[in-house]
Amino acid sequence: RTVYVNGDYLPEAEATVSIFDRGFLMADGVYEVTSVLGGKLIDFEGHAVRLQRSLDELDMVNPISKEDLLQVHRELVRVNEIDEGMVYLQITRGAPGDRDFVFPDPETTQPTIVLFTQNKPGLANSPAAKTGMKVISIDDIRWGRRDIKTVQLLYPSMGKMMAKKAGADDAWMIEDGFVTEGTSNNAYIVKGNKIITRALSNDILHGITRAAVLRFAQEAQMEVEERNFTIEEAKEADEAFITSASTFVMPVVEIDGVSLGEGAPGRVALRLREIYLEESLKTAV
Ligand code: PLP
Repeated sequence: RTVYVNGDYLPEAEATVSIFDRGFLMADGVYEVTSVLGGKLIDFEGHAVRLQRSLDELDMVNPISKEDLLQVHRELVRVNEIDEGMVYLQITRGAPGDRDFVFPDPETTQPTIVLFTQNKPGLANSPAAKTGMKVISIDDIRWGRRDIKTVQLLYPSMGKMMAKKAGADDAWMIEDGFVTEGTSNNAYIVKGNKIITRALSNDILHGITRAAVLRFAQEAQMEVEERNFTIEEAKEADEAFITSASTFVMPVVEIDGVSLGEGAPGRVALRLREIYLEESLKTAV
């Protein structure tokens, strides 16, 4: 695999970053994951805009223009022959000479930028979308700025492991009695024809897929309600699903061992998945 590090395209075995990099020492960095379908980038614009916002919120300098970033994404997709898969991008505050809690001077410390691809054949035609996924609920003990897409992924990773141990696929996190989001996705329930999902705030990541799916739902005359919901309400819902760049729209069929509806992917979730795959390709670049 060819990867990109600080301006260079290199074989992955030759790509290195400093041990003093603040991404490595302090999780001081942000990332984006953009999916690739038919060799094209889905919603690149949305990911580029959110990347800039994450950097701004952390007073980090963006080392690359949007045009150059698109060019790097495209070049990696091309050289690695990605038809279906992902492009991962990470920017950290870089590697000052020594470990220090104080942010390094942006004048003298270059941010570190890394991109690599992941090949995932069959991403659009995922078998998981046909069976649906099982989730468990866990406490949300993450920090209060989940709207910034930082590389602090230890708790989400532990949540995924808790789900795995419980025989489930993912965990939905609960704060003050309400579902915030999945470990790496936004969470939704469906009651009748109404799609319910938590409103945007600092409590959740502002999903790029979420924005697109809600727009497509409204264009298809589906009813959308942005509000908090409890895990108890979710267990009594007709359907549930998640969205993310890497799963698109994925039905949820079981919550904490309770089957939803018929215990099979719901009609609304499957319809939204179909619409998303069709519509998002129209703006792919
Ligand atoms: N919520 C969290 C915590 C995530 O990590 C992600 C994606 O990584 C999402 C939501 C979904 O965001 P997007 O649709 O932009 O991939």
